[in-house]
Amino acid sequence: MIVGIIGGGQLARMLALAGIPLGLKFIFLDPAPDACAAVLGEHLCAGYDDRAALAYMAQTADCVSFEFENVPADTLISEVAGKVPLFPAPSALTLAQDRLQEKHLLQSLGIPIAAFEAVDSRADLERAVAKIGFPAVLKTRTLGYDGKGQAVLRRPGDLNRFWQQLGGAALVLEDFVAFESEVSIIAVRGRDGQAAFYPLAENTHHDGILHYSQSRPDHPLQALAEDYARLILERLDYVGVLAVEYFVVGGALLVNELAPRVHNSGHWTIEGARTSQFENHLRSILGLPLGSVAAVGYSGMVNFIGELPAMDQVLALPGVHLHVYGKQSRGGRKVGHATLCVADEQARQSGLKELFALAQGSAKPSFPGRNDRQAVPDSS
Ligand code: AMP
Repeated sequence: MIVGIIGGGQLARMLALAGIPLGLKFIFLDPAPDACAAVLGEHLCAGYDDRAALAYMAQTADCVSFEFENVPADTLISEVAGKVPLFPAPSALTLAQDRLQEKHLLQSLGIPIAAFEAVDSRADLERAVAKIGFPAVLKTRTLGYDGKGQAVLRRPGDLNRFWQQLGGAALVLEDFVAFESEVSIIAVRGRDGQAAFYPLAENTHHDGILHYSQSRPDHPLQALAEDYARLILERLDYVGVLAVEYFVVGGALLVNELAPRVHNSGHWTIEGARTSQFENHLRSILGLPLGSVAAVGYSGMVNFIGELPAMDQVLALPGVHLHVYGKQSRGGRKVGHATLCVADEQARQSGLKELFALAQGSAKPSFPGRNDRQAVPDSS
């Protein structure tokens, strides 16, 4: 069977690495000539809206999926949907492309989120700030990722400055959530409607970018996180992996955002769960039975951002697994990650600390630590 993936970055690469042992073959569509998944299949080097390339993929693949949400949904619908199974459905993609639509869906399901206001003009921004107060987070409705297209407004003087930076786009203003921690759940739902939920991951971001995650199999909010994720899966009649990111506030959960794809906070599942998020995504979109999502031991994942640490030092740590994406080093770019999978909490914390020290080549947030009020960059 041939799986077509829109996007040829590290998520596509890890999907292929999970699918090859199952006998699957892959085609990737990615405009970058050096797309890092390309070594694992056929690479269509063309734009995401290239109709001929999409039509070829629809003809050749048995099933199509995507590795990131900023794919033009209309060309995907016209060239792929209806011609070959396409999962998740483009409706989930369109929803996740627009923070405002996503918030309306969550509200309609009764799922708690931070207070927000849509902002389409300078006057809207004044009104929104009057309602929400300082600090507040101004975000572009579309095309934001890894904290890009976001700014924290802390005082009246910030309005002009950030309006000049972000004001050309449709925006949303959110209450700044003074969260205790951030967690995410990786949910997966098969074509038959069966759903499974991985143990929560606790995530630490810096400047809007995920720096490390730890699996929390006994988290007291697991059941609540599953309930909310299930409501979303059912409403969207979703097939595939869906990541739901939450803020933990006062023992409750607020949804921050959804990602209709395999997710960085689920990379620990490659070694830390019985079946990885990547394999389960493939199983679900192909209509195969899902594998167990149970955690194996204590896992922690550290991203390598901008540059890779010395390989020999990483591999010298007990219980560590290194993933190098084969991407050119560049500031702020995720170029690899390592997962620790060990037998107890103490070994995890000491191992993570060492791994984190090695990862500090290009980014220097402190470890251990909870997300601070600078989690979102002041401008991006
Ligand atoms: P996002 O791109 O919306 O996932 O934001 C990236 C990160 O910025 C989040 O994981 C949080 O650490 C931080 N962040 C985003 N929105 C807010 C908010 N409303 N309040 C506090 N922190 C936020």
